[in-house]
Amino acid sequence: MSELVNVVVFGSAGRMGQAVIRSVLASPLARLTCALVRPGSGLADEPLDRVFGALPRNVDFSTSLDPDERYDVMVDFSGVHAFDAALALAVERRIAFVSGTTGLRDEHRAAMQQAARTIPVLWAANFSLGVAMFLRCARRIGAALPDWDCDIVEMHHARKQDAPSGTALAVGEAIAEARGAGLADTAVYHRHGHIGARKPGEIGFATLRGGDVVGEHTVIFATEGERLEITHRAGDRDIFARGALAAAIWIARRDPGLYTFDQVLAP
Ligand code: NAD
Repeated sequence: MSELVNVVVFGSAGRMGQAVIRSVLASPLARLTCALVRPGSGLADEPLDRVFGALPRNVDFSTSLDPDERYDVMVDFSGVHAFDAALALAVERRIAFVSGTTGLRDEHRAAMQQAARTIPVLWAANFSLGVAMFLRCARRIGAALPDWDCDIVEMHHARKQDAPSGTALAVGEAIAEARGAGLADTAVYHRHGHIGARKPGEIGFATLRGGDVVGEHTVIFATEGERLEITHRAGDRDIFARGALAAAIWIARRDPGLYTFDQVLAP
């Protein structure tokens, strides 16, 4: 691609937003054109230098887009409460939309489908390359061993708002789908008290929270006499930021439609 991709980061004051900004600043393919923060943020109208040190070309943190600036793609890592506003802004300005915000509900997914009629849209519960491979493996094992019990365990830092994690849910959905079922019919999110024996086909979730854990997921497939486990451990938020930026560059000038991170990675 000859021209640089103009990137807007939505949620620029957050942990992931700042990791995405670092990735954009380091990329030879992309240019940061706007770093959006929520109205009232202490960073509003402050120069990016305040957080990222001296930069060759300065950009301010901002609460709105410049009507005269050209933007190609918005990368959103804000949170479920800001998601509608981020998507609406991308549609209004006809900017491609990449989001890693988790905790989304059915209405948010419907809104993305609607938006995909006019702009390219890509959402992923997890933008790490390792997790993309983890998902492919889990789907394959789930299909190949349909009678084995399956539980998913995840751990994240103490400040995470949603549970189970979007990644755990995506893994559960992939396994349920590979077994010809829906996650809504097979998921068990709580086990407490005298609950009786496990039902065939159940997919159980266990959520752990604590400290500064960036993200760990294990899928356990178990049957009589043996157990198969696959684990992914994220040690650094930059892996998600790099994946999201790769997705943003890939989607920036595509036709409107709904895309997946797997498509970005596919040869
Ligand atoms: P965070 O709380 O550190 O950051 C969220 C930021 O969004 C905050 O700074 C908040 O002020 C800002 N925000 C809220 N409303 C806004 C608005 N209207 N305009 C602009 N900014 C606004 O959270 P985080 O750890 O960075 O995570 C953000 C989201 O990303 C969560 O949903 C998390 O689960 C998800 N996440 C996804 C992946 C992935 O690979 N898909 C990886 C890590 C985290």
